[in-house]
Amino acid sequence: MPSFAYRCQQCRTTWPRVLTHEEAVGARDSHRDHVHGGGVPDGDGITVHRTERWAEADDLERWITVVLVAVVLLVLAYKTL
Ligand SMILES: [Zn+2]
Repeated sequence: MPSFAYRCQQCRTTWPRVLTHEEAVGARDSHRDHVHGGGVPDGDGITVHRTERWAEADDLERWITVVLVAVVLLVLAYKTL
């Protein structure tokens, strides 16, 4: 699942990552209004951070995946005999 972060290049600040693009837009709009008088600072933007699903999985999910792959491989090996 991706996360989003707003960065203002003028203030050289990146806000903490949030789970939805809308939350990052809210942080951006609030910052623009309060610090830059509603203007759009040069170079500001929202970055998308993607992580590998495998890296986010807990141990149980990893074990289940490994066992399922092993079962599929065993079934395929059995059928070829
Ligand atoms: Zn700023």
